[in-house]
Amino acid sequence: MSDNSSRSLHWFRNDLRLDDNPALSKSLEYAQTVPVYIIDEHFWTNDKWGHVKTGPFRSCFLFESIIDLKNEIEKLGGSLLIRQGKPSEILPSLMEQFSCNTLVAQSEHATEEIEIENIVEKAVHDIGGKCYWIEGHTLYHPDDVFNLFKEIPDIFTQFRKSLESKCIVRDCIASPLKINCPDNLTSDDIPDLNTFLSHSGQKTPCLDKRSSFPFKGGLTQARKRLKHYFWDKHHLSLYKKTRNQLTGIDFSSKLSPWLAHGCISPRRIRSEVKRYENLYKPNESTYWLVFELIWRDYFRFISMKYGSRIFYHNGIKSKTNLSNQNMSSFELWKNGKTNDSFVNANMNELLKTGYMSNRGRQNVASYLVHDLGVDWRLGASWFEHLLLDYDVASNTGNWIYIAGVGNDPRANRKFDTIRQAKIYDGKNTYQNLWGADIT
Ligand SMILES: Cc1cc2nc3c(=O)[nH]c(=O)nc-3n(C[C@H](O)[C@H](O)[C@H](O)COP(=O)(O)OP(=O)(O)OC[C@H]3O[C@@H](n4cnc5c(N)ncnc54)[C@H](O)[C@@H]3O)c2cc1C
Repeated sequence: MSDNSSRSLHWFRNDLRLDDNPALSKSLEYAQTVPVYIIDEHFWTNDKWGHVKTGPFRSCFLFESIIDLKNEIEKLGGSLLIRQGKPSEILPSLMEQFSCNTLVAQSEHATEEIEIENIVEKAVHDIGGKCYWIEGHTLYHPDDVFNLFKEIPDIFTQFRKSLESKCIVRDCIASPLKINCPDNLTSDDIPDLNTFLSHSGQKTPCLDKRSSFPFKGGLTQARKRLKHYFWDKHHLSLYKKTRNQLTGIDFSSKLSPWLAHGCISPRRIRSEVKRYENLYKPNESTYWLVFELIWRDYFRFISMKYGSRIFYHNGIKSKTNLSNQNMSSFELWKNGKTNDSFVNANMNELLKTGYMSNRGRQNVASYLVHDLGVDWRLGASWFEHLLLDYDVASNTGNWIYIAGVGNDPRANRKFDTIRQAKIYDGKNTYQNLWGADIT
């Protein structure tokens, strides 16, 4: 147990929730906590391909999530500071201002995020403070996974089977009942989104009525979505049959944007699946949702295993015959103007809504790399800019998998997009919905 007479600074990162939040729970072991979210402008700068890292859809979702988090913290008697700038400058200064000797935050695992952690850690040490980086992103706890494997297998099935048979998912941590903050702490207002986005040349997005994801950010919305999908409509029990569809809000869980921002934990989703299975009955579909969460874990553990290698052009393989950086083909793909109407419809949906189905993502990614011969990293960068559910490990892991430089045991996973369109969009419903208004 930590020193109960002192204060912690809780830095919310991709853990924008109160329920099952191990880092928050560590912070709350202290007598008082100062919760803060930092809008780090680094994530609104251009990447090396010229795309603003965080586009309008995800910015909007993030701001909604922060507002909801603040409201929920206030209901428990606390406050949320919202600051804009560099974590390595803001955090030590807040620790001094509020006499916090400890910083607690959720660990991240990708190169940029680890660099930020290292700089923050040094700045906190320089003022005599200490940091705790707590795991909270995955379904299986990294300590348990690394106890099981000397090395994470490069084949998903091996990873999954061992986990399922030898590893347990730790229990969820209940939401706190109260958040004790220093008396003089008052919440900040979030910056105006329009003004904030204008600094990176972006605008607040409008909702497209055709969107498969007409939802808002935040832990409250995540809970509502889960309730709707599992308990009210029982879509969970059909998930495996519907998950490859393309249109509508209920063909898949749509939990990914909330998971990516940490508005809900994968453990909570799994525990609700188990509760559902106990009340009704387990079937292939209820199992499959958890199976997909293991894919999410897998790509995270692969990113931990390979570090920055996952971002290399040849990924984790030693392949040399690689695709190029043909910018004109890439521009056609980005704007849904290729010769393939199925690919175009998917790219149009992404451009207008920030969401695309898994089936769509596989097809457009394969088309970019294998049909147009373009470097997968350009596609991944465009996805990073637009996706509501962008998650560095899931995005990169899936892209390198499809590009043939990741964890696919088969050498060349090329999707026949014409055939795929016939199977999944036989009546052109999807292409008619998203194909007509490409500008
Ligand atoms: C090229 C490409 C890029 C992708 N980029 C991302 C990304 O940045 N962020 C992201 O969350 N997913 C990504 N995915 C995986 C997948 O497409 C989305 O997770 C899924 O479409 C989200 O919708 P859903 O929540 O309704 O999924 P559901 O089908 O309901 O699945 C439930 C959950 O399982 C997880 N999941 C499902 N499929 C995958 C998968 N293939 N890889 C990892 N996790 C999975 C997600 O967390 C998802 O929310 C990508 C897939 C491809 C092919």
